[in-house]
Formats: sequence, C-alpha cells, structure tokens
Amino acid sequence: MSNKIKKIGILTSGGDGPGMNAAIRSVARYGLHFGLEIAGIMRGYQGLLEDDIVPMNHRSVSNIINRGGTILKTARSKDFSTDEGKKKAAEVLHRNQIDALVVVGGDGSYRGASRLYELHGVPTIGLPGTIDNDLNGTDQTIGCSTAINTALESIDKIRDTAQSMERIFVVEVMGNKSGYIAMEVALAAGAEDVIIPERPFDYEAMHDEAREGNKKGKVSWIIIVAEGAGKAQTIAENITKAVGLETRYVVLGHVQRGGTPSGQDRILSTRLGAAAVDLLLNGVYGKAVGVLQDKINVVDLKDASRRIHEDMDRRYQLLKILT
Ligand code: ATP
Repeated sequence: MSNKIKKIGILTSGGDGPGMNAAIRSVARYGLHFGLEIAGIMRGYQGLLEDDIVPMNHRSVSNIINRGGTILKTARSKDFSTDEGKKKAAEVLHRNQIDALVVVGGDGSYRGASRLYELHGVPTIGLPGTIDNDLNGTDQTIGCSTAINTALESIDKIRDTAQSMERIFVVEVMGNKSGYIAMEVALAAGAEDVIIPERPFDYEAMHDEAREGNKKGKVSWIIIVAEGAGKAQTIAENITKAVGLETRYVVLGHVQRGGTPSGQDRILSTRLGAAAVDLLLNGVYGKAVGVLQDKINVVDLKDASRRIHEDMDRRYQLLKILT
C-alpha cells in the first residue's frame, strides 16, 4: 500500500442527489479509519477555487446518512471549466496539502476530475452522483433509485385522480439528456406511454390510440415525458386539440431531487465511498468507481461519462405490451 496520500479532499458537484451525504460520510470515516486527514470542499469546484475548505472529523458526518442534499453544498462552476481555473484548483489543493480529490457528481463533474488528473497530475477518483443514471461503469448512480421512488409516489396519487375524474395526465419528470428516470417510472407506474430523448416519438399514433381507446371505454391515461424530450404542457394541449379529451399536465420538477435517500442509495454510496479511499491508498488515480453486478467496478474517468442505455426500445415494447 502506497503511503503517498495523507490527506483527501472531497467535494460534491453538479446537481445534488439523495445519497451524496452517505458517500461523504463513508469517504470521511473510512479514510479517518486508515489515519488519513479529510478535507471537505464546499460548493464543488467553485468552492475549491475560492479555497472554501473545512477539516472533517468523525463527528462532522454524524446524522447525515439519512439526509438528502449534500452537507458540502454543490454548484456548477464556469471558472473551473477554463484551463486557468483548473490550474488554480491544482494550486489550491497543493497549498492545502490535499494529496487527492474525491469528486461526487455527474458527467460534467467527471470530465472536470479527469482533466485535473490529466493536466495537473492531481490524483482524482469520481463517484457517480447524479439522479440520471447516465454514467458508464455502474449499474446505478447515487440518487437514481430515490428519484424514481419519489416520482412514483406522486404519480400513484395522480393515477387516483386520473381514474376518478376520467382524464388524461401528462407528467413531466427529470431527465434532460437521459430518459432513464422517465422509462423506469413509466414501467413502474404502469403508464400508458413514455416520451424520452433517446427515441423518436410518434405523436399521431398516440393520439390515434387515445381516440380508439376512448371509443372502447378507456377513460384514464398517464403519459410520462422526460423534460428533455418535450414540454408536458404542450403535449397535453395537443392531445386535447387532436383527441378532444380533457388532458391535464403536471411538472414534478425539483421535488424529485430531494428527500430521504432510499436504502439502495445509502448502501451504494457507502460501498463506493470506501472503494474510492481504497483506490487512492493503492495508488490508483483518474478512475470512476461503480457497482456492476454487485461488485465494485473501476473504469477510467474519461470513459465513464455519457452512458447510453441500449435497451430503451425493448423496455418501451414491454411497456406497450403491458398497457
Ligand atoms: P448532473 O448530471 O447532476 O447535472 P454534472 O456533474 O453533469 O451533474 P455539470 O454542471 O455538467 O453537472 O458539471 C459540474 C461542473 O463540472 C461544472 O460546473 C464545471 O465546473 C465542471 N465541468 C463540466 N464539464 C467540464 C469539462 N469538460 N472540463 C472541466 N470541467 C468541467
């Protein structure tokens, strides 16, 4: 085991997600267990550039395993994206005697961590902290399972009204580039249709189906749309115009980001936090850690960004068969 690393910095970056706190707790306590110093970097890369860094001890992460959001706060930093910004970040780390950096975030945050390693030799490890589940090398990202459960809670309630009032509901869920949440939520809610950025959608066919269904007495519909694939309001208005059935829309928005992390997210974060520290202690840098088929899995950070889910068509077929 290399003893080069004595002090680890940890930051959370990009959109927050439930389970990030459990990851911070795991990195901190596991690192302390091996005699390392732990530095909490506030507000992602922006806080790093501003030298907003706090020492962490065992107690700093007490009572956070069950809390959503991130105690370290998070941000998106334009300054860090520049070459100058990354150089400054490396200098701040050096000045604070931080030997290695654990970054919990999504694809943008991974690209930042990868560049910091490539350009300035900073030992970095990425943990997949994004509700979108759009990173390679891991079955699930931290926050995704909770976000799906949170959306489902609302959609189950909407279904009661859709059924009782005999209405079509279009529900917009999070997912700008990734339709993963939308597809999973649609399958789990038993929705009639789902619109995602990854596959073209035939609106005419949906309108025909609603018309035909209505003739046969079908009175309530739930259609899920990922925010990056269309606006729920427009889709609902078009259904009303084309089909003549009363259609309402709901945008779930940021409620899906927060809240108590699911057991699955807490366990994932806990395992990944410890794995990040293990890698650093073993002198393995520039990697992203995930869990694939229940085993810790390590890939190069530069290869981890932007996962494309290849079975979206199959899932869509399944959804339509079961509707
Ligand atoms: P989420 O998936 O939740 O949106 P994210 O990590 O993808 O999270 P971004 O806003 O894309 O969120 O990225 C977070 C930060 O990472 C950015 O504000 C920026 O500072 C840094 N970053 C993004 N892309 C790059 C890049 N190509 N090179 C260096 N740094 C980057």
